[in-house]
Amino acid sequence: MALRNMLWLVLLFAPCWMGVSFNHNTDPKEEVEAIHKTILTLDTHVDTPMRLGRDDFDVMKRNDARRGGGKLDFPRMREGGLDAAFFAVFVPQNSLTEANFKRAYERAHETFDLLHQMAERAEGVAAIALSPDDAYEHKINGKHSIFIGLENGFPLEYDITRVQEFYDRGARYIGLSHTRNNQICDSSTDPGGYIHNGLSEFGKEVIREMNRIGMLIDVSHISDQAFFDVLEISKHPVVATHSNARAVCDHPRNLSDEMLKALAENGGVVQVTFLPSYVRQITQKPEVVEARRKVREKYNNFQGLSEEEMAVAWAAWEDINHKYPVRLPTVSDFVDHIDYIVDLIGIDHVGIGSDFDGGGVLEDCFDVSEMKNITAELLERGYNWEEIEKIWGGNFMRVFRQVENLAGR
Ligand SMILES: [Zn+2]
Repeated sequence: MALRNMLWLVLLFAPCWMGVSFNHNTDPKEEVEAIHKTILTLDTHVDTPMRLGRDDFDVMKRNDARRGGGKLDFPRMREGGLDAAFFAVFVPQNSLTEANFKRAYERAHETFDLLHQMAERAEGVAAIALSPDDAYEHKINGKHSIFIGLENGFPLEYDITRVQEFYDRGARYIGLSHTRNNQICDSSTDPGGYIHNGLSEFGKEVIREMNRIGMLIDVSHISDQAFFDVLEISKHPVVATHSNARAVCDHPRNLSDEMLKALAENGGVVQVTFLPSYVRQITQKPEVVEARRKVREKYNNFQGLSEEEMAVAWAAWEDINHKYPVRLPTVSDFVDHIDYIVDLIGIDHVGIGSDFDGGGVLEDCFDVSEMKNITAELLERGYNWEEIEKIWGGNFMRVFRQVENLAGR
């Protein structure tokens, strides 16, 4: 048996090995602790790289999320029992001009640099992971795993060789678009409407190249038609690294029942996310809507900003949240999406992608230190260890391995 499978079995069945058995009399807190010690826990989307390089943030120290300190760092990953995360190389997008493509490409590389520097500083605490095997091994060695994903294919420009280039820098997924249409496909949220009616010709080439290399295709953010185009062209299962169920919360960023069923048929996985407006319909007061509109207008809808401008824009956004506090969705609201998806397409196609530091937040999972509240809720709702292991990473890792194997890695 390959080493990786043995590691996996050790982790999955450790409680049996150790003769630990849990019954209804067990303290739920102890059971949550035991689960997090045993299984691999993975969050497939955090935007923490946007904070790297800033003077007011140190990923090696404990920051206070309730005082604007960001939602993830290594000390709080430890507290929350989160083993691994995909750190998103997020690239803001402006119009599709040569100068903007060039800037985005440079910016993507700068963020890769920051992530590799972070991994060097974190030696002994965390390490870059390039495959599922790496993550299981890091877990056994007591280290967190830093996976990298590229959010938005904009920096590829029209150069197909850049798919391999970003893979070689450590990226293991590419989110095809962000909130605006790009050269690859339409976005689900571009106010200007669609320009490709799905994937562009270059987008189709990107899918084939990602299949060839063995890279995960992230369908979060893309339009419904682009989603179905991807499923038609990709020979591999795909992932939605941070999306919810549209039937539970009607938002174009979420997946319809038809999309969820197609995703299951494809063998892929949807990673349920914390972003409040994708979790629960929130009715906002007109003054809040207006204040937000003004900030979006002032800061070019958060597109094409420098790092400094982005920090100022986020601060203005946070000010509104402070001034008009809304009741955030809860872990229970979040798990409603998991329940719904499990009922619709089964336990094998769902996972977790918080979008921490990109807007993801729940009232009772405000930062990564509170991740165990999700496990507690899953237990409370009757999910067993094996199911919880699948949700916390097993399903995503299954797809990850398939994509590697299909590409002959
Ligand atoms: Zn996103």
